[in-house]
Amino acid sequence: MIINDSNRHKGLRNQLVSTIRNKGIKDKAVLDAISKVPRHLFMDSGFVDFAYQDKPFPIGADQTISQPYTVAFQTELLEVQPGQKILEIGTGSGYQTAVLIELKAEVYSIERQKELYTKAKKFLPKVGYVPKKLEFGDGYLGMPEYAPFDSIIVTAGAPYLPKALLGQLNIGGKLVIPIGDNVQVMTVFTRTSEKKFEKLEYGDFRFVPLLKEKN
Ligand code: SAH
Repeated sequence: MIINDSNRHKGLRNQLVSTIRNKGIKDKAVLDAISKVPRHLFMDSGFVDFAYQDKPFPIGADQTISQPYTVAFQTELLEVQPGQKILEIGTGSGYQTAVLIELKAEVYSIERQKELYTKAKKFLPKVGYVPKKLEFGDGYLGMPEYAPFDSIIVTAGAPYLPKALLGQLNIGGKLVIPIGDNVQVMTVFTRTSEKKFEKLEYGDFRFVPLLKEKN
């Protein structure tokens, strides 16, 4: 595949970075990552012209690529350090995966839609983003065989907290998860000791639902 990333795309990305900075994203490393990942390549060709608007878009299988502001917001909450081991639930287009790889994280990611899993598995390495592990499976279960993780990000709206995920965090690790049915509250659980978790909430978002099992 020829990587089609022009100066025009770069210019549009810089505008997108200004937009999300104006909406409150401050972390320079996160803004830099957004300025580098060619979001238009993660979308079906029909939507390329919309790739640098701050909006979610359909990616097939009734799913969406998240809004860039939301990706930046969740990524900022993760406080990623280079070399950290991060679990993502909901690979989708692979865009959030790529943002985490730009931040030099080792990314493990799970997707429950076979079609999207297969597409991301082929596509990500082609554009230079190589995750540690992509799995077709149910994110409610996490990835016990590769746990513990320095942090976990859930990119779909969870009707309730999947308990298995808390147990897969390192001490000091964070779980960033939108919780709720129609509207989700962005919630961060930090593991402060073997048995203790601190919970903080960061406002309302709307995600596609985190569904049970594989499809
Ligand atoms: N991170 C993605 C966001 C995609 S939307 C991106 O940047 O494009 C959320 C994704 O979560 C969808 O692809 C959906 O299929 C997936 N998903 C929903 N329920 C899931 C589950 N139980 N386990 C794993 N993935 C799930």
